[in-house]
Amino acid sequence: MMALAGYPLGLTCTFLDRSATAPGAQVAPIVLGELDDPARLRELALSSDVLTFDWENIPGAAMKPLEALTALRPPRRALEVSQDRLQEKALFSRLKIPVAAHAAIDSRDDLTRAARRLGVPGVLKTRRMGYDGKGQCVIRHASDVDDAWATLGGAGLIYEKFQDFSREVSLIAARAVGGGIVYYPLSANSHAGGILRYGIAPYVNAALERVARRCVKRIMETLDYVGVLTVEFFVVGGRLIANEMAPRVHNSGHWTLDGCVTSQFENHLRAICGMPLGSTRPLGHTAMINFLGTMPSRERLLAIDGLAYHDYVKEPRPGRKLGHCTLVRRTSRERNRALTDALRLIRWT
Ligand code: AMP
Repeated sequence: MMALAGYPLGLTCTFLDRSATAPGAQVAPIVLGELDDPARLRELALSSDVLTFDWENIPGAAMKPLEALTALRPPRRALEVSQDRLQEKALFSRLKIPVAAHAAIDSRDDLTRAARRLGVPGVLKTRRMGYDGKGQCVIRHASDVDDAWATLGGAGLIYEKFQDFSREVSLIAARAVGGGIVYYPLSANSHAGGILRYGIAPYVNAALERVARRCVKRIMETLDYVGVLTVEFFVVGGRLIANEMAPRVHNSGHWTLDGCVTSQFENHLRAICGMPLGSTRPLGHTAMINFLGTMPSRERLLAIDGLAYHDYVKEPRPGRKLGHCTLVRRTSRERNRALTDALRLIRWT
């Protein structure tokens, strides 16, 4: 999606990927290798004007030597902070951005103490390498502690108080080299089993949007950020609690491909290449639905007026994101109706 957004701007991408058949291979050359392979990374850096990433678990240590060779955007510090839930929460707290009460867990005793001090329910998570609900266990009762420890037990965990949220929302923004920031409207995201199923945007709530923008601005300015940044929040009792940030284009922003003047992918490229940022004005009321595990019937979905279909041409696997579709309507009511119709045609496996 990044390469496709780059073509009209006259930009060409090269990707580093572990697989020669990665979706990016359909539209750009692939350098084949591990994402922390020093030789491959060096090759990529030497042949590129700017390096970026759309996965945040690349070790910072692998990126460090590349900074002397080319521009790395977003900055390495943003990558490193986002890799560790504890560091991420420490940064948010320092910036006065509310987070769930939490504790670092490195032993079974730590977990017993944290569950007692913070209470249950709570979520035990790995501090690193967790995404799409992987590396997480919900502890509903004190008696679940043993099971959770048996599943995830070890060092490098975090226990968070369970947030009884009314919604999950995310704010995506892009910051240019000169420091200018553009914000997309808030989107409301519906997850199950830790994976985003569908979302709507704009999620119209001016007060929450103002607060979310302030949070994102603080993070971006503190990190001297360049590129697209996503921050996910829980809405609890009408307030925002920051869950996590992603220093990259984000699944909850895929709606911008069809629902905004400038997509998150184009604005990310514009930002990291030092170009002026594009308008984030929504074109209407949009719904985005992920295809997970199984591809739906393309013919039946395309029969829905105005539906945009995105197939990543990936090997199906349970829970794997294989594609998505978007629907843009004039009003939120029409959008909601179209979303309900489309959801009937989609099966998540
Ligand atoms: P994460 O990997 O932290 O984004 O978590 C994936 C999903 O799990 C979130 O989008 C929430 O739906 C759920 N979740 C994570 N942490 C919590 C929490 N502290 N309280 C309630 N739900 C949570």
